[in-house]
Amino acid sequence: AIELVGVSKWYGGFQALKEINLSIAERERVVVCGPSGSGKSTMIRCVNQLERHQRGDIRIHGRAFGGGARDDEAIRRETGMVFQSFNLFPHMTVLENCTFALTWVKQMPEAEAKRIAMSHLERVRIPEQALKYPLQLSGGQQQRVAIARALCMQPRIMLFDEPTSALDPEMIKEVLDVMVELANTGMTMVVVTHEMGFARQVADRVVFMDQGEVVEQAPPEEFFANPRYDRTRMFLSQIL
Ligand code: ATP
Ligand code: MG
Repeated sequence: AIELVGVSKWYGGFQALKEINLSIAERERVVVCGPSGSGKSTMIRCVNQLERHQRGDIRIHGRAFGGGARDDEAIRRETGMVFQSFNLFPHMTVLENCTFALTWVKQMPEAEAKRIAMSHLERVRIPEQALKYPLQLSGGQQQRVAIARALCMQPRIMLFDEPTSALDPEMIKEVLDVMVELANTGMTMVVVTHEMGFARQVADRVVFMDQGEVVEQAPPEEFFANPRYDRTRMFLSQIL
């Protein structure tokens, strides 16, 4: 579970998050949407402390960040993150990208790390690409490697920041399919995306952000059929 209580974040003098309150239950799937610059990435990056917030509390499974580097790192490991731009290590093979953190961070023996990595590469349906380098793969394949790599660390929560928006249309589906399967396993997921088909299919709740605030949140049926605020309606009219 994730809880944000009164979370505010400034970049210099600019307030990017304004007292965000948001609770996400275990096994819940939440889609976050909103206009460019509304704070979606900032919010999700604060959840795994790639960005520090200045006010409020962020708790993962009941433990709040801010209790020292070692504790923060342990809390951070509850979450896996997938970015728009894949962020794979270009000089490592697909398999090495997946085993790296297992052997270096978790100090796992090489053979075991490989076994785990291969099982996740099978899960995202690209075990045959294991010995290639990221740039030898299509964008959709690279993003599936990024998902496999995150899953190797056995996070209880997966965070996605526009995972398909850098992809050509024909590759979007193969990535979304993997995410749908992941959702079906009961993974807690927070997904920043404008793929409203995905939201309708798997989200328990859609959260709409604008200007650093959570403006509105509702189950997808309700969110799309009866948005309560003008800002939400305007946004939906632009993307649907
Ligand atoms: P997009 O849909 O374009 O990805 P977003 O909703 O993810 O937008 P953020 O990237 O969270 O928006 O940015 C929120 C606001 O904070 C924007 O006004 C942005 O310019 C600003 N911002 C983001 N990162 C930084 C930074 N590192 N330094 C200064 N300002 C930043
Ligand atoms: Mg963003």
